[in-house]
Order: sequence, then C-alpha cells, then structure tokens
Amino acid sequence: MGIIRTVLGDISPEDFGPALVHEHILVDSNPSNGVNEYDPEEVFEIMFPYLIEIRDLGIRGFVECSTAYMGRDVRILKKLSKATGIHILANTGFFLEPYIPKYAFEYSIEDIANEWIKEINEGIDGTDVKAGFIKIAIEPGKMKEIYVKTVKAAAQCSLSTGAVIACHMESGKVAMIVLDILEKEGLNGDRLIFVHADSEEVLDYHLKAASRGVWIEYDRVNQQTSERTLKLIEFMVRNGFEDKILLSQDSGWYSVGQPSGGNIRGYGYLVRDFLPLMLKRGFSQDLINRIIVDNPAKAFQMEKL
Ligand SMILES: [Zn+2]
Repeated sequence: MGIIRTVLGDISPEDFGPALVHEHILVDSNPSNGVNEYDPEEVFEIMFPYLIEIRDLGIRGFVECSTAYMGRDVRILKKLSKATGIHILANTGFFLEPYIPKYAFEYSIEDIANEWIKEINEGIDGTDVKAGFIKIAIEPGKMKEIYVKTVKAAAQCSLSTGAVIACHMESGKVAMIVLDILEKEGLNGDRLIFVHADSEEVLDYHLKAASRGVWIEYDRVNQQTSERTLKLIEFMVRNGFEDKILLSQDSGWYSVGQPSGGNIRGYGYLVRDFLPLMLKRGFSQDLINRIIVDNPAKAFQMEKL
C-alpha cells in the first residue's frame, strides 16, 4: 500500500478523502516580482477561516496547486495544515511561461528532474516540507520545446518517486501528446491528471484519455458551471469511467499585490451545494464517495519505492 505525502509528512491514503484536488492558497501572478512581497502572517490570517469552513463541511484533504515562482509558500501551507488539521499537499514543478525560471532553459531534463525529485524526497526551499505531487502546465497549440522538456522531466521524476503528474492542459489534443510522451518514457496513464479537462469541449478526448488510465479532472466546479459539470459526470459514468473522475473548484486565493489578497473565492461550494445537486440528479451517495474519497486517494497515492 502506498502513501500520500502531505506538508506535515506521509499519511495513509485512507485518511486523505474527502479531498479537494485542485485549489490555491496563494498566487503571485507577477512573474517579474521575484521577491515575496507579502506578509506570510497576513496570508495565514486571511486564508485560515476558508479552510476551517471546509474542514467543518467534512473535507480532510486539500491539494494546493500554486507552483514555485507563482506563489508556492510551503511555510504558510505547513502552518495552515497544523492549525486546521487538513492534510495539505504541495507540489514540485513549473507553471506556464513566463513563470518558468530562466535556469530551466539551460538545465538538462535530468537536471530539472533531479531538482524536483529532491523536493519530493528531501524538502522544499530549505524546509523539511516535501512535495506530494508534480505540477506542470502546457499551453494549447503547438508544443514548445520547453514544455517537451518539462513533460520529460516530470516523467523521470514520477518514475523515480511514484508521484502523480497534474498537468494543466485545456486541450484534449495536448493531453494526447503529453500522454504519448509519458507512455514512451515508461509511465502508466494513471500517473497523469488531465487538469482543466472541463475546458475540452470534445468529449471523445475525455473518453480517450480515461481509457488510457488518465485521471479526468473537472476542477472548475462553481454555480455557473454546475449544470455542465453534472452533464460531464453523467457522460463519464454512462461510459463506465466513474473511477477516473476528479472534482475541484480552482478556488481561493490570496493574490499577492492586492489589498488583503483581493477577491477570494471560498472552497465550500462543492461540498455544500454541488454534492446535494448530484444526489438530486440521481447519483448515489456511494458513487459520490468514490469520486471525492476513493479517486483522490488513488490518484495522489505514491507507491513506496
Ligand atoms: Zn489552478
């Protein structure tokens, strides 16, 4: 049996769900910012009640998807996890350009992979906080060289650690290219999460990816998207892929540079409003549990190597 690697250490996958698999605590969307121009204490104070809200709604696991150079701050995540009891996962990896650091263009694939492996096995930013998954991102359209590099580095990192790769892709075409590369590197499809799959209109891609083992993440669940998300879930369940669905909200976050972190969207909608909608629509409680408890536990599980 594997483990889930949280910011406070390894836990049993059974203790992880119900989990939100794609949310943000802190985002620094100014790539030239470089230095952390925010008060970590203020970020903690502002974000703490949002986590208490979902803890009281029964959420136990929380996957934080802000990458390095884009607002990842594991000291804050560790403090929030300790204070709330929620199991928080931090990531290693890179986001899109221009959030990819200059050195990555010079580094070899192995250099990048080794840096990420270190963040999973040893710790991040001089702390003992370890990453629990790999996050990468790719723009739609033609694959740039730097993204081929990050996908291959992610493959090496995953092969060495067992960590899952959450890849921000809004396009099924890109998902197929990424999956081809990963499989060629020797990875199983179930080590890939198709992040923002709900942006892909062509449902055939959802099926194609799921049939190759990929996790299909509908991570923009909110009031506006609820009807569409219900339809997507119905479609996947009808096709026998309920064991490949992940749900989340891409909510939060404290925005660096804005007064008091700006406009923050809470994390409560999915459990408080959307799951009851699923029940009303005829999905069983058992199926809901599989999607929000069992699937995250399997997706983010790392086999002890
Ligand atoms: Zn996100």
